[in-house]
Amino acid sequence: MVPPRTVAALAASHPATRGPQPALRRYWDEGIETLPRHDLERLQSSLLREHLDHAYRGSRWYRQAFDAAGVSPGEIRSVADLARLPFVDKRIVRDRQVAAPLLGDLAAVDERDVVYVSASSGSTGVPTLSPFTAEDFDHFQDVQARLFWATGLRPQDRYCHALNFSLFVGGPDVIGAQRVGALCIWAGTVPADRLLFLFQQFQPTTTWTTPSYAWYLGETARAQGIDPARDLSLSRIIVAGEPGGSIPATRRAIEDLWDADLYDFYGISDIFGASAGMCQEKDGLHLAEDHHLLEVIDPATGAEVPDGQPGEMVLTTLRKRARPMIRFRTGDVVTRDRTPCACGRTHSRIYIRGRTDDMFIVNGVNVFPSDVEVVVRSIEELSGEYRITLHRENHLTRFDLEVEERKGPSLPTAGLPEAIRAAFRSRLGLAPRGVVVLPDGTLPRSVHKAKRVVDRRQD
Ligand SMILES: [Zn+2]
Repeated sequence: MVPPRTVAALAASHPATRGPQPALRRYWDEGIETLPRHDLERLQSSLLREHLDHAYRGSRWYRQAFDAAGVSPGEIRSVADLARLPFVDKRIVRDRQVAAPLLGDLAAVDERDVVYVSASSGSTGVPTLSPFTAEDFDHFQDVQARLFWATGLRPQDRYCHALNFSLFVGGPDVIGAQRVGALCIWAGTVPADRLLFLFQQFQPTTTWTTPSYAWYLGETARAQGIDPARDLSLSRIIVAGEPGGSIPATRRAIEDLWDADLYDFYGISDIFGASAGMCQEKDGLHLAEDHHLLEVIDPATGAEVPDGQPGEMVLTTLRKRARPMIRFRTGDVVTRDRTPCACGRTHSRIYIRGRTDDMFIVNGVNVFPSDVEVVVRSIEELSGEYRITLHRENHLTRFDLEVEERKGPSLPTAGLPEAIRAAFRSRLGLAPRGVVVLPDGTLPRSVHKAKRVVDRRQD
């Protein structure tokens, strides 16, 4: 066990000031990343008490919400007491921002202490802002550096940052790669041709994009006579924004296309660019638990579900001072694993299944687009692209599926739709109502997040 004084010292000191020189380290921040779970939980409880106190003192909304729940921050002594506090969700964040511009009254510092603000895409209404103090931003980049380091990124690497720089919280993540010491190329979101040109010119070892774009880019390269595996130097591709990076068959397909290792990261704009990422074991995403407290709940009852069972991920920030997020319902469905990882890191691993809003129910079974993707990717006659269309039939949800035949030597495709339906029945216990097999390249490719589900249930 780490003595309490050491735990406090770990919480207070900056990782750059302790341990050997970065290039020699196995971990970015060994003291924190391999902290025994008992000590990690003690550290979390101590940070939580301080953070709740800060939220209560600084934020009008939290003060009112805690008072309404009849709980004072002083009564929350440890992680186990957290369930006494109310949830926060995206709607509350948006409403409070509209009610108390600019930052909303969940913010717990004065605007003059804020140095950076990101904004969500606003696809569900008003773009929501995420403010950072200078210290928050420093923590943010330190966590990004930690996650990059865990994928094997080192100072000798060249990193091409291909995420959006316009207001998107993932834009500044490039600074985390610079903190690692990698040579960083600030590409941003550019057309595929341009990005491929940058890959040819700079020969980066690492890039970061979405899974569907990694696939699209590889296909575009091939169409131009460039073999991504042979002609380009990428050995590491980081993906986020869609569950594909955690679906083994999708991951392998992209890895084969590029001859590179794929690492899945997870982030939400309301907290950090990335809050969790795969280590080189590529088995789940380690959540930075010294910055986030994780609960996995039943979305209907709010009760915590046991490790290994899917539920909605609820995150509580432990240090983000500009706008604490206390019990924030992310809308993402995950399972949690607290058992030790072969890499030596002790922080929980999460496995992401999809978003609660994308889930649909067929024959009483919860289905995520990622479940459909697992089946589609397992059928070798198919390209891996797919589109789901939801219909309502006698008050029940049914779905049609469009897929693409894989390019290459002609395969016997007669009877393919029935074989696909059979594969669904055996894997998921249900099948699409109709299956259409299209020629390769018919379905739209996306530059960012793929639109996989068309909902016709209201039509
Ligand atoms: Zn690990």
